[in-house]
Amino acid sequence: MSIVDRLNDTKAAIARAAADCGRDPATVTLVCVTKTFPAEDVAPLLAAGHRVFGENRVQEAMGKWQGLRETFSGIELHLIGPLQSNKTKEAVETFDVIQSVDREKIAQSLAEEMKKQGKRPRLFVQVNTGAEPQKAGVLPQDADAFIALCREKCGLKISGLMCVPPVDEQASPHFALLADIAKRNGVRDLSMGMSSDYELAIQLGANYVRVGSAIMGAREYPQP
Ligand SMILES: *Cc1c(COP(=O)(O)O)cnc(C)c1O
Repeated sequence: MSIVDRLNDTKAAIARAAADCGRDPATVTLVCVTKTFPAEDVAPLLAAGHRVFGENRVQEAMGKWQGLRETFSGIELHLIGPLQSNKTKEAVETFDVIQSVDREKIAQSLAEEMKKQGKRPRLFVQVNTGAEPQKAGVLPQDADAFIALCREKCGLKISGLMCVPPVDEQASPHFALLADIAKRNGVRDLSMGMSSDYELAIQLGANYVRVGSAIMGAREYPQP
């Protein structure tokens, strides 16, 4: 089965999952996660018409997507990995959506860069719903205050929330928690669900699902 076949299968599964819970399939966007895969592997997906992609490293994405953007128009690139404050300039240049805003220093730095570049990527706050020490994201109990800080102190519009549940736990309580935080803060978009659990995430309200290996195949080297 080719990468394009798996893309089409995944899109069909997303549409079924949405329809099964009475949602319009058009409200769920597939972010195809292409980290570790070279541009040659991504090009067929673009040729097949897909436009929304995710990468988790700024450096890796810059080289790969500069070339692809010269060939294909209308690309929407999401940063789904942790962002260092010394990389916000490159992040604002490279990405259309930044899903990993999780601390004041990053929020401030993004606000300055966006002003400087006159570019406004959409911003999501990452929530560490499992409070895992090694994982990026604001703690659930700090999420309301952090969203308020982004909005009021940094003047940023927060359009979504993102989470990556612990690998060894049921994902549904984490998805439900993220949906709750979004609702009480008036945040519209929910980025949750990966290859193994995107259908469940759709049931719980996801409108962005981030699917990598189910489309691209197994990654060759481990991610930090
Ligand atoms: C790698 C990654 C994904 C995709 O994971 P798969 O299990 O391969 O679908 C989704 N979200 C984030 C934040 C990732 O780093």
